[in-house]
Amino acid sequence: MKITLSVIKADIGSIGGHTRPSDELFETVKNYVLKNGKGLFIDCYVGYTGDDIHFLLSHTKGVGNEEIHKLVWDALRVGTEVAKKQGLYGAGQDLLKDSFSGNVKGMGPGVAEMEFEERPNEAFALFTADKTEPGAFNFPFYRLFCEPSANTALLVNPSLSTGLVLTVMDVMTGKKAELKIPQDNFLIAASLMYPGRYVIDAVRNKDNEPLLAATTDRLHNIAGTYVGKDDPAAIVRVQKKYPATEETCSVFKVVHYVAGNTRGSHHLPLMPVKIRPAASSNFCIPIVSGILFSMHEGKFTAYTDAFDTPDWDYYRNKATEKAEYMREQGFVHPATLVPEELEYAPGYKAMMAEVEKRFK
Ligand code: 13P
Ligand code: MG
Ligand code: MG
Repeated sequence: MKITLSVIKADIGSIGGHTRPSDELFETVKNYVLKNGKGLFIDCYVGYTGDDIHFLLSHTKGVGNEEIHKLVWDALRVGTEVAKKQGLYGAGQDLLKDSFSGNVKGMGPGVAEMEFEERPNEAFALFTADKTEPGAFNFPFYRLFCEPSANTALLVNPSLSTGLVLTVMDVMTGKKAELKIPQDNFLIAASLMYPGRYVIDAVRNKDNEPLLAATTDRLHNIAGTYVGKDDPAAIVRVQKKYPATEETCSVFKVVHYVAGNTRGSHHLPLMPVKIRPAASSNFCIPIVSGILFSMHEGKFTAYTDAFDTPDWDYYRNKATEKAEYMREQGFVHPATLVPEELEYAPGYKAMMAEVEKRFK
């Protein structure tokens, strides 16, 4: 049976700053999709990571389907009204266009989709992050698909070592490059070196089956100005000829430094967290949650939290410690981003214009 998975996510408002949606807001969007999507999708899961709400839908309508996209767009519009009524912070933050024109891509929400022939025991992971950018997934997914010292499966599972194609997107131009694993691994590494510019968009195998699909939207390219970070989401199919669940989740143990956090202007580690967290009030340490799904005939038969076991507390502590080290150096780069990546660039430019006047 051919199934499409569509994940669409957006920040439409949160409590007391950029923390998490209110229960009323969350219930409103969830119920809207469940009520109005009858007959449209097979199954639907709605959750949130920090202030970003994500919708995961299974259906048979293919990628980029107008009805599916409109359903979620309308839910986000209705939710925005609730967020406004409640005085939530950043109400409608990621909805950058007024009228729907067939697809939510380019309208603010992040989208990642894949269509495939469902396996009898289809298993996949959904990763959703907050207070960071799509390139935050570059290093973990590079290690998963290209780095044998991080994933031994690349040496012992031939279906992962031959014929995988990784698509990198240039988020400034929207152009995509297809690079082969492992032949092009150094080219892949070079392009993933600057995550603010080049991001992993998809991974497919030689039979053109999708293994990974990620959101690659860049909000400030759509809006022309800072409207919040492009907190990413990604779907990764796991087990058998794909990476094992534990190989996939373990790549988040590095808690590497990513751009984002407070005012989208700093570098802090990416902390794996339990599902449905509020953003951290500790300088908004970037967070990623992982949900593991079993799917049968398009139904999400069960799901479980990928980062819930006690060992992950150790990596949360590691992230806290790395965050402390970075914030110890205050405003000095690399704690702060380079000027081109600084989300609050106009404020910084105004300050520097004053300084410029004094150079003689
Ligand atoms: P979000 O992009 O998650 O809304 O965060 C905005 C921000 O600047 C937090 O400091
Ligand atoms: Mg926000
Ligand atoms: Mg967010």
